[in-house]
Amino acid sequence: MIRYSYCPNCNKNHVEGFFRIDNAPIFSVVTLKTREEALAVPRKDIELAFCNDCGFIFNRLYDTSIDYFSMGYEDQQGHSKTFMQYLTRISHHLIGRYNIKNQTIVEIGCGKGDFLNLINTLSGGVGIGIDPAYADGRQENPNLTFYKEQYSLKHGEIASRLVCCRHTLEHIHQTKAFMTLIRDSFGSVHRPLIFFEVPQISRILDDFAFWDIYYEHCSYFSAGSLARLFRSTGFKILDLRFDYDDQYLLIEAVAAEETTPVTFDIEESIAEQKQRVDAFRMKINEQLGFWRNRLQEIKDQGKRAMVWGGGSKAVGFLTNFADIGLFEFVVDINPYMENNFIPGIGSQYVQPGFLKEYQPDVVIIMNGIYKDEISQTMNEMGVFPNVYTL
Ligand SMILES: [Zn+2]
Repeated sequence: MIRYSYCPNCNKNHVEGFFRIDNAPIFSVVTLKTREEALAVPRKDIELAFCNDCGFIFNRLYDTSIDYFSMGYEDQQGHSKTFMQYLTRISHHLIGRYNIKNQTIVEIGCGKGDFLNLINTLSGGVGIGIDPAYADGRQENPNLTFYKEQYSLKHGEIASRLVCCRHTLEHIHQTKAFMTLIRDSFGSVHRPLIFFEVPQISRILDDFAFWDIYYEHCSYFSAGSLARLFRSTGFKILDLRFDYDDQYLLIEAVAAEETTPVTFDIEESIAEQKQRVDAFRMKINEQLGFWRNRLQEIKDQGKRAMVWGGGSKAVGFLTNFADIGLFEFVVDINPYMENNFIPGIGSQYVQPGFLKEYQPDVVIIMNGIYKDEISQTMNEMGVFPNVYTL
């Protein structure tokens, strides 16, 4: 096992570990057909480290040799109305602000291509998705082309107006090398607009949201550490903001020869981030204990409990309490997940309709932003459990 002693976001070596999760399943969103397969998923340790030079947070034990591309995985959120409204809003923003009409849009790490399809449909032109894990046949839009490969220098030659990269950078360990590759790929003339979106760590730290820490995410950005990365790799930042209930961090930038450090209000200093990390370190065990007691109590009372919302948050949450053995089922509205089993945990995915018969006493919602949508769905089915949100 390698324990990184330098920061992959700035290449300096003033880093310190501050939080461990042992035996985390290395996959969160792969599709597994049996409980045995789910429980056999390899486990590895996480040690979050803080960089005192650039404020970046990363898993210093991350194993970069894991193949995350060849197994089928499900990470589509497009089945939720709330999420589609969000994607539509950010698409309209980009199209309007940068006048992207009938142009070429590239998406790095496009997953199943839902966002690319949406923004292409709204803006016209053509869309090119680059992702080694793209599943053939998921998109029928004739204006889209998909390359099942990793981003490389040659892709910079595509005459794009906009390059998007949503929820990909947090999976990349060598973040400085990756952004340098993207910058280099554009050469000295091509200057597309760059739009990146990642989860933001400051909220995770402030809320002691341990469920948002899992193996597949090796890199955790704050506004400050993301801005420092972009500037240090030759990008001028046009906009930097939080969105999606402050869960996501969005950045718009363009390659530039000179990157004058215009700072944005949300960019925290390294000292401020260090304080946040120290507060997290002090309080996180209390938060873990609170949830452990609550779940153990539900178990002792013989109540039926379910988690609503699969994917990574469910794995991040359940990893810490798998020994209690409370959750047989997890609800997820993505029909492709139905009947699959959660990696490393072994709970089975069911569709919302399952609750009509199962009638759980307690439902724990993994993402509070969906609370109204989920409560409405349950009430319409005649299901009225105690609802908790993380
Ligand atoms: Zn650093």
